[in-house]
Amino acid sequence: MNQFDVDLFIIGAGSGGVRAGRIAASHGASVMVAEEYRVGGTCVIRGCVPKKLFVYASRFAEEFEDAVGFGWTPGEATFDWSRLMAAKDAEIDRLNGIYIRNLERSGAKLVQSRAEIIDPHTVRLVAEDRLVTAKYILVATGGAPYIVPDLPGREFAISSNEAFHLERLPERIVVVGGGYIAVEFAGIFNGLGVETTLVHRGDALLRGFDADLRRTLREEIEKKGIRVLTGDVITSIEKTADGLLAHTRSGEALSAGEVMIATGRAPNTRGLGLESAGVQLDGAGAVIVDEFSQSNVPSIYAVGDVTNRVNLTPVAIREGHAFADTVFGGKRISVDHLGIPKAVFSQPEIGSVGLSEEEALAEFTAVDVYQTSFRPMKHTLSGRNEKTLMKLLVDADSDRVVGCHILGPDAGEIVQIVAITLKMRATKADFDSTMALHPTAAEELVTMREPSVRHRRNS
Ligand SMILES: Cc1cc2nc3c(=O)[nH]c(=O)nc-3n(C[C@H](O)[C@H](O)[C@H](O)COP(=O)(O)OP(=O)(O)OC[C@H]3O[C@@H](n4cnc5c(N)ncnc54)[C@H](O)[C@@H]3O)c2cc1C
Repeated sequence: MNQFDVDLFIIGAGSGGVRAGRIAASHGASVMVAEEYRVGGTCVIRGCVPKKLFVYASRFAEEFEDAVGFGWTPGEATFDWSRLMAAKDAEIDRLNGIYIRNLERSGAKLVQSRAEIIDPHTVRLVAEDRLVTAKYILVATGGAPYIVPDLPGREFAISSNEAFHLERLPERIVVVGGGYIAVEFAGIFNGLGVETTLVHRGDALLRGFDADLRRTLREEIEKKGIRVLTGDVITSIEKTADGLLAHTRSGEALSAGEVMIATGRAPNTRGLGLESAGVQLDGAGAVIVDEFSQSNVPSIYAVGDVTNRVNLTPVAIREGHAFADTVFGGKRISVDHLGIPKAVFSQPEIGSVGLSEEEALAEFTAVDVYQTSFRPMKHTLSGRNEKTLMKLLVDADSDRVVGCHILGPDAGEIVQIVAITLKMRATKADFDSTMALHPTAAEELVTMREPSVRHRRNS
């Protein structure tokens, strides 16, 4: 007889937890999943999906303007935030339903409750005050927006969570942060006609991305009307008769209807009982796991953002899948965290895979940079002053392409495919021997003949 109530108890029904539950159940495990908010997790409910829908909404203003160069005379366009919110909510409800159905169809039992760990094999369902024992526990609780607790007036600020539920669109907004969420939301609000200021502590936006992308993105978003303040921080937020006033260290007082703080996210481990079960956390509160997502307590595993490895949906899904195959499917599978393509749904969009120029220079003695910057064909008639940037980094000794960075329309779509070639260790000669697809922007990737820079390190 089984000495536990279930084989697997999963805390959190987001990207990683749902995939792990479905796959473990398909391997014959009895699975229980607890979710304290909404099934689907951050990505579906208040992350990737609603964000991308907002990005689409925010691009139409430019489309209407661009149409004029192609002979159109659009009527006066108006925008209704509440209609967008209703449409977005209906789509999120639909996806939420699909996630619930898929999980239940797999045979996993879903419980709507917060869950906390009591010991290495016991979990408490808070809503029912019931204990459940499990052979394995999977922590898939994700992360949450982090706002410094000692910022005066922080209670007036919103995070990305609230940005998805604003009752009305403000006339002006201050977005704080320099990561992808801050940059994307600045683009969304600006595109929807909100006067937008982006305040970032560092010198350049999007730390971790190639320096040319970072610099060009700033130029492009400033052209679109976003005010970018770098090297500055918000020191307090004050409520006034007609909105908010965000004070900066440099002495500015920025008046706005909303202040959105997107300066980081923290793993959801607070009050989860991990410490009492003996699970080791790192300084940021993330669960420390090995390559198979196992913590130092053998029966407790963790996947996704709560482990703070690479905090992206496809990564959480892969980790959840690999965990279930390893523990219940008899195949030991670890996830390769190298060469993960990334997109920023800024305007223009960014797609990036592999090493930045700085990283390539640190790793290889000879690096060739192939770089081009051009006006997209569409803008020859639209008249829009916007550039596309494309960059390939090549290890000159092996001829292998080790990085690809694009700023421009559909950059994410293009880089998803380029990522396959990098995974296959494609060389620059492979790119050169591939026929161009004309007329596209992506054809530039196979037609750049001469390096723009040849770096040679004298070792
Ligand atoms: C604004 C925004 C935009 C994003 N855009 C992208 C993007 O474009 N592309 C991309 O790849 N990634 C994006 N991400 C990141 C992506 O959403 C996460 O990487 C992904 O959701 C992580 O999945 P997860 O399973 O680790 O956690 P989550 O999806 O966060 O799921 C965790 C779940 O656990 C639940 N939970 C937490 N604690 C408990 C508890 N004690 N008991 C029960 N339930 C609990 C939570 O309610 C949640 O549903 C974005 C994130 C944000 C915030």
